[in-house]
Amino acid sequence: MRVKSCRNYNLRKTSGKNSAYRSGCHKVHSPGPSFRAGFRQRAPAPLTPAERLKQSLTLCDNGFPLGKYTGTMKFLCPDCGREEEIIGDRSPRCRFCRVEMIPPSGYSEWWISPCFAIDRMRKISETYGIYRARKEGRFKKEREAWTTAMLALALMKLTGQEWWIEIETVGNTPDTKLQRIDQSPGGNIIQTYEIEVVDWEKNVDNIMDVIRKKCARAYPSKYLLLVNARNSGKLLDFDQVIEEMKTLRSPFLEVWIVASIGPVTKVVRVAPAQPFVDLERADFENASKQKSFLRRGTRSMSSEFKNLGLVYMPIPRGD
Ligand SMILES: [Zn+2]
Repeated sequence: MRVKSCRNYNLRKTSGKNSAYRSGCHKVHSPGPSFRAGFRQRAPAPLTPAERLKQSLTLCDNGFPLGKYTGTMKFLCPDCGREEEIIGDRSPRCRFCRVEMIPPSGYSEWWISPCFAIDRMRKISETYGIYRARKEGRFKKEREAWTTAMLALALMKLTGQEWWIEIETVGNTPDTKLQRIDQSPGGNIIQTYEIEVVDWEKNVDNIMDVIRKKCARAYPSKYLLLVNARNSGKLLDFDQVIEEMKTLRSPFLEVWIVASIGPVTKVVRVAPAQPFVDLERADFENASKQKSFLRRGTRSMSSEFKNLGLVYMPIPRGD
């Protein structure tokens, strides 16, 4: 089988064709581009160097990217849905509704659903343009989450299981984790896949060069390698990759490839071969039923869901 990989970057497809499943993915909706009109021009409170350090550490611990100016955070009003950049004040109230605003949550606190990860990348693409979305280092975690979401949806299609994405915020590896709670009798056990994500980029002709390079390094044997084949215009022959994988010494438990080919996103396990999963529109729509967030480290799903309240996770800043 010889298929030509899609010329368009995966994100474009996701942002256009599947935009129907965006609703329901969020507990909190962005009010649209006009929020800047409500930008608060409050002068930054003078901080001592010690205070400034403490503040930036607090933000870093949160796992949330720092604003351009230390101490700037984006808050959301749960009543009117307005987002606002606020300097200094850590418990601001909405100027119009007078209710307490919600601070942004970082990745370190939550597991996110595949649908939320996909929608987030769409939003970044729409806000900053596809070129920046796929190139810039500041969106790397979101791109890795997007690729991981494709594997999560493939697993869901194969097994019916719901998986959650955890984004690594402290260590260098793995890039992401897939988590699920096994609730079978006597269960309530967390199942985890640790995932190393790599992109097959334009400047590399053969996808095997990317895989070989990764396989040459020492990874724990429980890791999965997930290759995002976003290489436009290059040929991708899954059968050939599967054959070559048999002769390759790989440290990974499994190796998967994600590739957008025409209207379908193919998720293929090439080592050991071979579930082939075609993700189609219906699969994305089905995934949108999953709740957007789960508190990290959750064991009992049902009770945790009741107390989640509102979660606000704005996309990273572009400046
Ligand atoms: Zn308000």
